[in-house]
Amino acid sequence: MPAKPRVITIEEHYQDPDVLRAYAAEDQRQLPAIAERLNDLTNLRIKEMDEAGIDMQVLSHANPGLQKMDAATAVRLARNANDRLAETVRAHPDRFAAFAAIPTPDPKAAADELERAVTQLGFKGALINGTTNGVFFDDKRFWPICERAAALDVPLYLHPTMPHQAVIDTYYKDYAQDWPMLLRAAWGFTVETATQGVRMVLSGVFDAYPNLKIILGHLGEGLPFLLWRIDMGFSRGGGGKSFRDVFSEHFYITTSGFFSNPALLCCVQELGVDRIMFSVDYPFVANKPGTDWLPTIPLCAEDKAKIASGNAVRLLKL
Ligand code: MN
Repeated sequence: MPAKPRVITIEEHYQDPDVLRAYAAEDQRQLPAIAERLNDLTNLRIKEMDEAGIDMQVLSHANPGLQKMDAATAVRLARNANDRLAETVRAHPDRFAAFAAIPTPDPKAAADELERAVTQLGFKGALINGTTNGVFFDDKRFWPICERAAALDVPLYLHPTMPHQAVIDTYYKDYAQDWPMLLRAAWGFTVETATQGVRMVLSGVFDAYPNLKIILGHLGEGLPFLLWRIDMGFSRGGGGKSFRDVFSEHFYITTSGFFSNPALLCCVQELGVDRIMFSVDYPFVANKPGTDWLPTIPLCAEDKAKIASGNAVRLLKL
């Protein structure tokens, strides 16, 4: 039997008390078990990592992070939140690394905070929780962040957020009462974030910054399964490079909250095993189903080790 590979998860959330308080009371409501785990950075978290055999978590702020507030508030909160998170990483350098929370409502400040977090705090990139006050991240106003990430050679993790209100009203409202997760992890998050991924490719941002690397969770939000179809559709009209080529060159994906062998194997066939990184999406998803799944992946031990940690070590320079 080969030795158990090191296990690293990279879409693992916590919340900063000041950031949480910046939101309206109704937006702060969380299930008690989730809130307890988002607020805990060491005790219960490390216990549950140990119980599941997770060696390291790369921590990031839970949705909506700094993406749904005014610029001045976001800038004010970012520095302290990242400094506090850095203290946790410094206290447990073998167990934790971090993605920065960056104040995207002020793109220039967000680029500067990304650079500070990477060069001074040792962070591994940034996680952005979907649209910034309703604006998708491919908008040119955010390109200074992409430029800085490419220059620093760190990835940006594009995480789901709530769909636009117009989308909720038109697509989901009829079923939202009985099926609240329709808007969220069951479907709405996927559509929202896959749309974000498509828009990134169409924007031309990867021509402007060829070293830009984007991570999508949830096995690429369905996009790997759809690459052939998307490519075929775009070939009927519209110019430019193959969507599939650009996606495959610039995107990396994680298994957060998506522990399916058929879905994973599709991703391996489209993107190659080197672009896929294990993740859980703690605490919204429990660790143990993820680490119980890992050994069942029908790939060779070398490829499983890449997914378990090797690819994350390389991409994030852990
Ligand atoms: Mn998540």
